Amino acid sequence: MPGAREDRHKFDFDGGTVSLDFVNTVSGMRGGNDPRDRILTYPDLVYWAAQIGLIDSRQAADLYGRAEREPGRAAQAHVEAIRRREALHDVVVAAVGERPPPATALGTVNGWVAEAMAKRRFRMAAPGKFEASLEDDGDLLAFLRPVALDAAELLEDEVSQGLVGVCEERLVGRCAWLFLDTSRNHSRRFCNMDECGNRAKQRRHYQRRKHSQP
Ligand SMILES: [Zn+2]
Repeated sequence: MPGAREDRHKFDFDGGTVSLDFVNTVSGMRGGNDPRDRILTYPDLVYWAAQIGLIDSRQAADLYGRAEREPGRAAQAHVEAIRRREALHDVVVAAVGERPPPATALGTVNGWVAEAMAKRRFRMAAPGKFEASLEDDGDLLAFLRPVALDAAELLEDEVSQGLVGVCEERLVGRCAWLFLDTSRNHSRRFCNMDECGNRAKQRRHYQRRKHSQP
């Protein structure tokens, strides 16, 4: 099965924040029904990052070129990115279920956040005003640093306030995407109304018809 770049896959951004969209680059159910990881290679990761706007097309072209010239390092960077993504997934899912996070996963997320924080640089934008930016030191995963900082805020704020939901299609083993639930009364049920919401609606409709037939 091809990865996102070869497939020219159009990613969905239903998570409401970049770190959840990163976690949602796996469709279906992890460890269950037909999981599909769209990020099978380092170029797939770059493809996602360009689509979500973490890098521009020039930076993407540069990273594709580096992946061709340094395939070993690119493969290593890909493994590391997936390790971080899965750790974040495990920590958030545990928190949503009000379970303690797996220690290794939390350690990985902490390490990732610390690495990103260490690359924050302040500069004076105008007298008395500072701007922070992330240093691009040429690391193949430098563009994931904003994702780490977003994950840190997510854990401290929305996760801790119970504002992260899991798509209800998980109950039928179809989708377990995570999303920020900013709806009133925390009533959001699906990652996406057009796909998961509609599918659930059609299933209910079909079941009602089946039951009402003699
Ligand atoms: Zn869904």
